[in-house]
This record gives sequence, structure tokens and C-alpha cells, in this order.
Amino acid sequence: MEEGIVADQDGKVVVITGASSGIGRSTARLLAADGWRIAAVGRSAERLEKLQSELGEGVLTIAVDVAGTDAAKQIVDTTIEQFGQIDAVFANAGVYLDGEVAETDAEAIRKTIEVNVVAPLGLVQAALPHMLTRGSGDIILTSSIAGHQAIYSEPVYSASKHAVKGFTHALRQQIKGSGVRVAEIAPGVVLTDLWGYEEGDPRAKERLDVATGIRPEDVAEAVGFMLTRPRHVTIRDLVILPSAQDI
Ligand code: NDP
Repeated sequence: MEEGIVADQDGKVVVITGASSGIGRSTARLLAADGWRIAAVGRSAERLEKLQSELGEGVLTIAVDVAGTDAAKQIVDTTIEQFGQIDAVFANAGVYLDGEVAETDAEAIRKTIEVNVVAPLGLVQAALPHMLTRGSGDIILTSSIAGHQAIYSEPVYSASKHAVKGFTHALRQQIKGSGVRVAEIAPGVVLTDLWGYEEGDPRAKERLDVATGIRPEDVAEAVGFMLTRPRHVTIRDLVILPSAQDI
């Protein structure tokens, strides 16, 4: 197990979607090392179980399509049933879509919006009553640099990530003073499966060496930083880029 960044997080519960790969998996590892209990969500039961056996006790796996009608309720109910509480939601699962809009399949657009927008908003909505009743908690959504500036090659993806950022900002205002913090993390290029970089792919090092990509661990550390600020501090938006990203 990896070494954590802070040692006072024992027993807290975080729901992480997209925990079977990339940013979500790295964040699960980092937070587990800090004593968090993890509800790890993704479609691949096999990869979630692998993570569970790596991290040991305190990891609950929920293999579900986050875009399914009842998925949000299932995730929240199962987590509370198993762990009794939710301290943080990291709504991170997402898919990528680029290309000329005129040539893009309508079904691919619908699916992207469902997974990248409808699902995270629905998960937050399902977890909120519990968090508001407890008067504490953290909600972090993964947007993207494409949620901060529209990128010509990826209009649909940019739209989906702008929606996540808009939701974050408005919800933060709506529940200010409740004790529940709301934030988004906006990475540039992260060398994950999203770009065809499986864990351990030696090609990733070449990109790191020229700083055109960052590691999922870099993003996980930033999430850990956001979660561990004193309660009177909210890092509302954290943009994290490879130093040489051309953007
Ligand atoms: P990965 O492809 O490595 O991971 C994506 C994760 O999302 C997987 O765990 C996948 O699990 C899960 N997922 C996708 N669709 C569904 C679904 N329908 N239901 C449940 N789980 C799903 O990519 P990253 O880790 O890079 O991406 C994580 C987030 O970061 C995404 O929101 C992405 O848009 C965002 N992002 C990524 C950047 C990058 O450069 N990589 C840059 C900026 C933002 P499974 O396959 O098991 O379902």
C-alpha cells in the first residue's frame, strides 16, 4: 500500500466513481493509505476486486454503470448500509469524446452527457440529504481543463465538463454554510486508460520526461490536498496541468 499524505483521516468514508482505473484508482489508493474507507465504483467488477485485494479491508466494491437509472441511489444506499456514513463523494467517472460534431454519432453524444453530467449530478443529489443532515462532508467532481476553456477538437466533452463546473459553482453557493464543501478538480492531460496508457505503460515516462502529461497519482495528491484543508477553507477549483501542456 502507498504511503498517505496525512494521518488523521481514520475511518472516514469516501465514495469514488471511476475507481477501477486511472485517477479514481490512484485516489482510492492514496486515501486508503490515509485511513479512509472506500466505496469503489466502476463497471468492471474484476478490476474493482483487484483493487480491493490490493488495499484490503475497508474497501467496498460497487460494480455498476453510473449512468443507470437507479445507480446513484444504489451507490449511496449500499455505502451507508455497509459503512454507516458518507464523508466525501468523489464523482470522477467519465468518458472522452472528440471529433467533428457533424460526423459524431448522436448516441455517442447522449452517452457522454449521461456519464459525464447526468450521473455525477445524480450521485451528488442522492448523497446530499445524508451529508446535509450530518452537517459536514466534501463533494469533489472531476471536470477538466476542457471545463474551463472550450477545446475545438472536443466540443461535446468540453460542454460536459463546463456543465460539471457550473453545477459545482452554483451548488456551492446554494449550500454555503451547511458544512458541506463543494469543489471541482480540472486536470489537463493525465496519462491513464483514457488516452490508452494502461498502468505501467513504459511510454508514459517519455511523456513525463517532457512534461506533456501528468500521472494519476499527481491528481490524487491534489484531491487529498483539497480534502484535508481546514474546514473553513474550500478549494473551489483546482486546475492541474502538465507543465508543458500546449493549452
Ligand atoms: P480512465 O479511463 O482511466 O478511468 C475512467 C473511469 O471511469 C474508469 O474507472 C471507468 O470504469 C469509469 N467509468 C466510465 N464509464 C463508466 C460508467 N458508465 N459507469 C461506471 N464507471 C464508468 O480515465 P481517467 O482516470 O483519466 O478519467 C477519470 C476522470 O477524469 C473522467 O471524468 C475524465 O473525463 C477526467 N479527466 C481525465 C483527463 C485525462 O487526461 N485522463 C483530463 C481531465 C479530466 P469502468 O471501465 O470499470 O466502468
